[in-house]
Amino acid sequence: MTTLNPCDDTVIARLNNAVPGAVRPVEPRHLEEPRGLHNGIAGAVVAPADVSEVSAVIRIAAELRVPVIPYGGGTGLVGGQVIEDGPAPILLSLDRMTAIRSIHADENVLIAEAGAILQTVQEAAEGAGRLFPLSLASEGSARIGGLLGTNAGGVNVLRYGNARDLVLGLEAVLPDGSIWHGLRRLRKDNTGYDLRNLLIGAEGTLGVITAAALRLFPRPAATGAAVMVVPDPAAALALLSMAQARIGEGISAFELISGEGLRFLTETGFDIRQPFETPPDWHVLIDLGLPLGLDPSAALEALFADAFEADLVSDGLIAQSEQQRHDFWTVRETIPLANRKVGAIVSNDISLPLGRVAEFIDRAGAELHAAMSCRINCFGHLGDGNLHFNVFPAPGETNKGREADRKRAKTITHDLLAEMEGSISAEHGIGRAKVADLERYGDPVKLAAMRAIKDALDPAGIMNPGAVLRHR
Ligand SMILES: Cc1cc2nc3c(=O)[nH]c(=O)nc-3n(C[C@H](O)[C@H](O)[C@H](O)COP(=O)(O)OP(=O)(O)OC[C@H]3O[C@@H](n4cnc5c(N)ncnc54)[C@H](O)[C@@H]3O)c2cc1C
Repeated sequence: MTTLNPCDDTVIARLNNAVPGAVRPVEPRHLEEPRGLHNGIAGAVVAPADVSEVSAVIRIAAELRVPVIPYGGGTGLVGGQVIEDGPAPILLSLDRMTAIRSIHADENVLIAEAGAILQTVQEAAEGAGRLFPLSLASEGSARIGGLLGTNAGGVNVLRYGNARDLVLGLEAVLPDGSIWHGLRRLRKDNTGYDLRNLLIGAEGTLGVITAAALRLFPRPAATGAAVMVVPDPAAALALLSMAQARIGEGISAFELISGEGLRFLTETGFDIRQPFETPPDWHVLIDLGLPLGLDPSAALEALFADAFEADLVSDGLIAQSEQQRHDFWTVRETIPLANRKVGAIVSNDISLPLGRVAEFIDRAGAELHAAMSCRINCFGHLGDGNLHFNVFPAPGETNKGREADRKRAKTITHDLLAEMEGSISAEHGIGRAKVADLERYGDPVKLAAMRAIKDALDPAGIMNPGAVLRHR
């Protein structure tokens, strides 16, 4: 194992000298993560003002073999941004590098620094009459570096792709402190290995992203949304297929919501207007963005009529205003908050080939209910085959002391995913929470290649040690 050293007073003195004014005390928020599952340690927070200061910090860390965690908004859900033990790391915060460096509206490109908050980037794009389509419930806190570090997904992947699909170029600091000036605005650039896509999704283990050239899109002329009650997930998938045949690229999001999720909202006291008086077992939220001349409400009405005829839907509501569309989304986006209040035994962010999603929900549900007393709240980005398949204690029970059930639930879910060609992490990443799972379920050839890349770029293992791959 490569021995790493803590960020102690000697290291802090070197940092203060190299990047004056950038070293700050560690605050409790830096050591927590959204689900309260991991508590971190850190020797100092260092917030460089520009890429050359990031480089200076990394050079010192490389020389003294001190671990570094790149830190964005701290909203990651797999513990990638918190080291729990070992030598105290430098927490490298990007929160002073928040500039929108330039907008090239005619090229549909925006260049943002890694510390820019997603919502600010969305607003800057809107100000230029364009759309930056990455959208997720943490968009008020998550920063571009963290979003790219985790290759975030969110609600618009169906139409616009994951975070990695929205990037043309990157500027980054590699683990030896060298600066990669890859901030290109090219749509075609076949010049060898794709360093951009290596750093995106690497969760800070291969370097620090300092800026990105992001793709913008035309803003849809008209938007609309509907909620439709389906008898089961198989019908929801048939409805998706029907919707795609009719509306094609106009579908921005297609979300599955279970009755359990709606009941959790009530149970945990969220005073939210729900679309249906009695929570249906399953419904979908369909969001459209159409070009000029096309009417989203008319498209949704026609879809509903045909789907009703085909017994795919039994009830539904089409948003009559932007407020009602917003209300539909509030329900969807508050479910994770209600989940947190109920307290999961285990949360799974998984994906499957679309053709196997319904079978998985049935089989995993049956196996879990046979194995333990539980409730399942299955919801998520159905259009992407991405489910948040979360297991909760039964009413009146708690998730405390359920460690054996947690392990059993994980094994049941992951074994089934392996059999059904799914993924144990659809959009949240590996972080520290899923390292052992990746070792168990990952392809050995891929894992060996990942290890070789890590060793080549970061031989001392200073960059976010223990995330994605075990430190050795
Ligand atoms: C309420 C809520 C809803 C969410 N919904 C979704 C969702 O729908 N889809 C989804 O994909 N995720 C979702 N997330 C997860 C989370 O928002 C994403 O993982 C986000 O991309 C992390 O961004 P961040 O800036 O907070 O990064 P952090 O949490 O600070 O860091 C996350 C990881 O990225 C690395 N990193 C941070 N900055 C950099 C950088 N500059 N260079 C290289 N690596 C870096 C860190 O080291 C760490 O490994 C949600 C989270 C919450 C709390």
